Amino acid sequence: MRIDRIGIDESVAAVFPPEPLAQRLAAAAVDATIVDGSPESLADCQAVVTLEHRESFLDLEWVHSIQAGVDRFPHDRFREEGVVLTNSTGVHGDAVGETVAGFVLALARRIHEHVAHQTDREWSRPGWDDGWTVAGEQACVVGLGGLGRGIVDRLTGLGMDVVGVRRSPLPEPGVDQVYTVDGLREAVADARFVVLAVPLTDATRELIGAEELAAMRQDAYLINVARGGVVDQLALVEALRDGEIAGGALDVFETEPLPEDSPLWAMDDVIVSPHCAAYTRDYYRHVAAILEESVRRIADGEDPVNRVL
Ligand code: NAD
Repeated sequence: MRIDRIGIDESVAAVFPPEPLAQRLAAAAVDATIVDGSPESLADCQAVVTLEHRESFLDLEWVHSIQAGVDRFPHDRFREEGVVLTNSTGVHGDAVGETVAGFVLALARRIHEHVAHQTDREWSRPGWDDGWTVAGEQACVVGLGGLGRGIVDRLTGLGMDVVGVRRSPLPEPGVDQVYTVDGLREAVADARFVVLAVPLTDATRELIGAEELAAMRQDAYLINVARGGVVDQLALVEALRDGEIAGGALDVFETEPLPEDSPLWAMDDVIVSPHCAAYTRDYYRHVAAILEESVRRIADGEDPVNRVL
């Protein structure tokens, strides 16, 4: 593979403006141009950097996802056409870790209620026994990759005890006990916060359903920064309504944007955020660093960074 020109698809604008990335890549000696997915705009490009998938990308040699998740892309078609797919895993741990720490502190210290009251200019204190502190409480982090690592570091920093779930039971620093997926219900049983940080695959679709929610403590919160499809959303709404769990913080949903009529918008102890847990002004710089390294590796005849297909 030889990369002379990389297209930056305009869909990246949902996360950062494409221009600074184009300038940064140009400074790294690879021609970069902003494209709109049309075959004309992609002429002379061998590769594209993108948020969304477009059919025209199947004529290229290499597609780079600015996200860690690659569930938007038709993997079988990529294999058939011999298109290399890479992702941006590895750059989100700090931002998502801090977002999760923010959710945890907001829910325990009732900050989400203050923000809601401020909107109504209402001086309203929480009940004497509503607030609590998280030190010594347990969190269960499901998925111990780049995201999981960033989350574990923040939660242990807050004095929490952390258990984790992943495919292999290998130990992980800062994690008291690592369960495999078979032990998921046992892993979530003592946790005050269950945090989801796995990719959406056939194996993780609706990993959290009615039975897993029932296995959680009644005073537990579910935090989903993975993908909406990892949770059976109907079962979640029911569990929240019936008080089977206390609440949650949800950054991702089965349908995005979250439809206006979703009951999740109006639940007192549910924080809704618009799939932005990883947003940071440095996002494009992190993506640029991956791309620069990949371009170097490809020139040396090696695989690009974070090759998925
Ligand atoms: P990663 O590849 O570094 O880590 C994924 C982890 O999940 C690994 O530990 C892996 O072993 C584990 N895993 C995979 N399949 C599993 C299964 N079937 N059961 C249990 N564990 C399993 O990826 P990452 O960078 O940590 O990102 C994880 C996912 O989080 C992404 O795929 C993406 O969907 C999502 N994400 C969301 C945001 C956001 O803005 N909300 C940002 C980044 C990533």
